[in-house]
Amino acid sequence: MPELPEVETVRRRLEPVLVGRSFEHVEIDDARLTRPEDPAEVAAELTGERVTALDRRGKYLVVRFGSGRVLLIHLRMTGNLLYAPPGQPVDVPHTRAVVKLDDGSDVVYRDIRRFGTWLLVEPEGLDPYLATRLGGEPMGRAFTTRALSAKLANRKAPVKAALLDQRTLAGLGNIYVDEALWRARVHPLRPARGLEHDEIKAIRDGINKALAAGIARQGATLRDYRQPDGSRGSMQKEFKVYGRDGEPCDRCGTPIEKTRVAGRGTWYCPTCQVR
Ligand SMILES: [Zn+2]
Repeated sequence: MPELPEVETVRRRLEPVLVGRSFEHVEIDDARLTRPEDPAEVAAELTGERVTALDRRGKYLVVRFGSGRVLLIHLRMTGNLLYAPPGQPVDVPHTRAVVKLDDGSDVVYRDIRRFGTWLLVEPEGLDPYLATRLGGEPMGRAFTTRALSAKLANRKAPVKAALLDQRTLAGLGNIYVDEALWRARVHPLRPARGLEHDEIKAIRDGINKALAAGIARQGATLRDYRQPDGSRGSMQKEFKVYGRDGEPCDRCGTPIEKTRVAGRGTWYCPTCQVR
């Protein structure tokens, strides 16, 4: 599933080709994408809108329009946004929506498993919608040890489960939580509320470093994630623990172990990350 680095990579690639362009024609072929709204109605509402900004909040892409309205796109499991320059149309299976821009280019949305969502939000609706679902952004100046500490203080849950909760912090998923906790030398099953100040600081730094590494490598392609030009990310070649059970830890050589936390496959070094 795309996490913050994958979504941010898509945002950075699409921003220069999308901002300033108008949606000349919109076709949405999947009712699941817009439900409970009718896809034809959403397509009609989007037609004629001009893009003023492409932002990201957590794992959401935030397409801002001249009208003040916003299209919130969540890729979920297998959503991809592909960009087809003028005269080079993309024809791929599992296409769910196509946006024709006013310069002749296309933005194609494909989604094999069909869990992705497109939600058109009125200007005043965006902040309340996101506020109930997302905590703060990692990597920003507001992401301090103190802020993270406050979010974890009353959580009995394992730290990994707390970090997967989007209301703790927006944008992390199974891959980057494991990578961050390895960097921080914290065991994923440690109860969130029992962590020391120094450990929380190490987790904050670990999150920042893991996400920065992911962005620098254009995200991780395990299966379906692609950049808008169709190419893969390369972060999967740099994983420290994720998916590496039995391989030696980069730091100490101990074989990486796999367990389950919060129902998710979880990888860690039993020597560096003591429970
Ligand atoms: Zn180790």
